[in-house]
Amino acid sequence: MRLCFEQDRLLAVMAHPDDAELLCAGTLARAKRDGAAIGIVVMCRGDKGVGSSFTGADLARVRQEEASAAAEVLGAKLFSFNADDGELFDSYGVRKQLIELYRQFRPTLVIAHAAEDYHPDHRAASTIAEAATWFAASRGHVTESPALPSPPKLWLADTINATGGLEPDIYVDVSDQVELKKKMLSCHRSQLDRGGDADFSPLSELMLRQCQLRGAQTGVSAAEAFRWHHAFKRIGAF
Ligand SMILES: [Zn+2]
Repeated sequence: MRLCFEQDRLLAVMAHPDDAELLCAGTLARAKRDGAAIGIVVMCRGDKGVGSSFTGADLARVRQEEASAAAEVLGAKLFSFNADDGELFDSYGVRKQLIELYRQFRPTLVIAHAAEDYHPDHRAASTIAEAATWFAASRGHVTESPALPSPPKLWLADTINATGGLEPDIYVDVSDQVELKKKMLSCHRSQLDRGGDADFSPLSELMLRQCQLRGAQTGVSAAEAFRWHHAFKRIGAF
């Protein structure tokens, strides 16, 4: 059996500018190769990701440029919500903004952070992304665009170093996409430069260890893991 995304439109809803590279860019790249349309939503500006060597005045602008360059490597459309780091909260206003984006992009599959994730911004993004997938198909939630005919499927992304107790349902073989993940990650210079800081885990190591760990569990060199959104009316049959 082979997973094929040919007919799909994938939208990753991530908290920070480099999260997609760590958790789901290989899957996005595979889907792109199959012919799917790909979008990445970045909810926070990344403005607090300051390393000891950073001397720039406007980190948020730098990180926006880095995210744009990485999305270009993948061939994905980038959407930015521009919340300050640490200030992303679930509210009806943010939900409606994302509902409208879903209605315009029309994803068949949304990839969001898991509720078990270590980072508060990731958990907030997860809650908002999940709520918006459901309400995007509800005519009662009025935005500029009409409601979707049905909610998109929702996969919850892995957690860093497989912490938090997330039990994956799906493993996607991304062995052929590791180089592209590296290339995308290399766009995030402001964060790679933090690799020597004692309070920061080097991103390249994190990314490689993550996909090699999931690959080792499934007999391939690299994989990305996801969990279904196990909810009434949301779990799909294939
Ligand atoms: Zn993050």
